Amino acid sequence: MTSDAKTEVIETDLLVLGGGTGGPMAAIKAKEKNPALRVVLMEKANVKRSGAISMGMDGLNNAVIPGYATPEQYVKEITVANDGIVHQKAVMAYAQGSYPMIRFLDALGVKFEKDGSGEFNVRKVHHMGTYVLPMPEGHHVKKILYRQLRRLQVAVTNRFMATRLLKAADGRIAGAIGVNTRTGEFLVVRAKAVILACGAAGRLGLPASGYLFGTYENAANSGDGYAMAFHAGAELANLECFQINPLIKDYNGPACAYVTGPFGGYTANNRGQRFIECDYWSGQMMLEFWRELQSGSGPVFLKLDHLASETIGEIETILHSNERPSRGRFHERRGTNYRHRMIEMHISEIGFCSGHSASGVWVNEHAETTVPGLYAAGDMASVPHNYMLGAFVNGGIGRTAADYCAEIDLPAHDTADIAAEQARVLAPTRREDGLTPYEMEFKTRRLVNDYLQPPKITAKINIGQERLAEVRADLDQLVVRDPHELMRALETQSILDCADLAAAASLYRTESRWGLYHLRVDYPETDNDNWFCHSMHYKDARGRIAHRKREVAPYIVPVAADEMSAYHHLRIKTPVAAE
Ligand SMILES: Cc1cc2nc3c(=O)[nH]c(=O)nc-3n(C[C@H](O)[C@H](O)[C@H](O)COP(=O)(O)OP(=O)(O)OC[C@H]3O[C@@H](n4cnc5c(N)ncnc54)[C@H](O)[C@@H]3O)c2cc1C
Repeated sequence: MTSDAKTEVIETDLLVLGGGTGGPMAAIKAKEKNPALRVVLMEKANVKRSGAISMGMDGLNNAVIPGYATPEQYVKEITVANDGIVHQKAVMAYAQGSYPMIRFLDALGVKFEKDGSGEFNVRKVHHMGTYVLPMPEGHHVKKILYRQLRRLQVAVTNRFMATRLLKAADGRIAGAIGVNTRTGEFLVVRAKAVILACGAAGRLGLPASGYLFGTYENAANSGDGYAMAFHAGAELANLECFQINPLIKDYNGPACAYVTGPFGGYTANNRGQRFIECDYWSGQMMLEFWRELQSGSGPVFLKLDHLASETIGEIETILHSNERPSRGRFHERRGTNYRHRMIEMHISEIGFCSGHSASGVWVNEHAETTVPGLYAAGDMASVPHNYMLGAFVNGGIGRTAADYCAEIDLPAHDTADIAAEQARVLAPTRREDGLTPYEMEFKTRRLVNDYLQPPKITAKINIGQERLAEVRADLDQLVVRDPHELMRALETQSILDCADLAAAASLYRTESRWGLYHLRVDYPETDNDNWFCHSMHYKDARGRIAHRKREVAPYIVPVAADEMSAYHHLRIKTPVAAE
């Protein structure tokens, strides 16, 4: 492909990167706050069908609704599920914003399950509280968001992949650079504030199927947001707390115990016995799941075959029409029917994702990162177990960012930074021969599986780091033929950055915590004396990964010592099968 790409420079007030879940809501809330504000939303795919909710969603995993739960109860549950390492003020900001956001979405036309009197019909799945609100017709969510973006005249730039953030000499954020994934043209957006909402780092480990894009996460989420934040000098938190989820074997979609649990479905071993008390995902739950997989009682299954056919019909209506409509076809072609046999489950590849665990770009209760003018929302911001509603609520930061924009002038950036970034981006286009992005991505992710996947062993991680350094040295052989492959080449570099961060963060925390997420075989105990803290990871002056500890801020919702271990007693002592 030609390497003489055109460059357009535009100016705006607020730039939102990522148009999946949190990004559109951030743009909507910013425009509602100040209709005169210029807002640009840059999306790698097309906002009409992008991100983790591209095909819709089955329900809200963490709805805090008066009458069912209080914000204080929710903060306590999340604190306990995360072995105490939370910034409670940020979790509280989410919990308090939860119900107003549900009502906002309801008013926009998102359909939630309601009872006969029109009240939200919340179900219990978590260990302690009641937080799951089904969305039986959740496939309309993206369309509803898109309509609002149009109504509020948010400027959407589809098919532009953000590659690096721009900064001013005083350290403030000054915009971002993107490259078009169809034409290779550059777009430089100068902005007063930037909201990062690029989702999880979902292409870090390789799925058991071996398919590069057969990931649990939305495959477009290759960790670009984490990489951009790191290179811009933002601090990232608790990256060693990997995301690992239970899923349907070979399908790589969620098993959806959240959906099936309230109907009587559950996670079972090969004898059809329930072995964990609660199907709510946590590191401890995943540890029990993994132990069962390794034992003579494995593999693990989703058990529905004891339910009435009509009940299963209801479950199928939800699971096979929302979120991942291909699921029904998968079962049909494999010849598996929930009525006749249990469905084999497995554990996902590793990734970074605060939405399901706690690994994210550090944000405070106002969604501010450590770089002035840079905010983060959704799966890549550090508020743990935030899921879809958390991405929407965090997206509310659009209001705060709008206020910030009103107070400052457009920061100046160094044009040399743009030239340097263009040279980095275009380097693979200037070669005639070499390694394809697919080869390099496969190699990187296989190394992640071989050396970083828990249980973590120091000697293995050290070897993994050596091998990853060799892959990095090969980057100057990367070659691409067209703009689509250029996107893949850039994604491969983000994945490599995330792999390096995952290895370094795992070595830094010399203890085990969060169940399977950070199970270090040579440091098997939890060490609260030295490690009851956030681990912070950042780029030092020499461009290397550096670390520091950050104290856990005093709790605003107290948790008693005996409550803190509640998630450590999930295993059922004597497993039993359903009647
Ligand atoms: C399989 C699955 C099932 C889930 N089920 C539920 C559920 O039932 N209930 C629930 O509450 N939550 C659920 N979640 C979690 C929820 O969907 C996520 O927490 C939430 O959607 C994350 O929103 P986000 O905005 O952070 O990321 P996303 O919605 O994934 O959006 C990220 C966007 O950024 C774009 N992007 C990435 N990189 C770039 C770049 N470099 N430049 C420009 N754009 C970029 C992507 O294309 C994407 O559109 C599920 C998640 C998954 C993966």
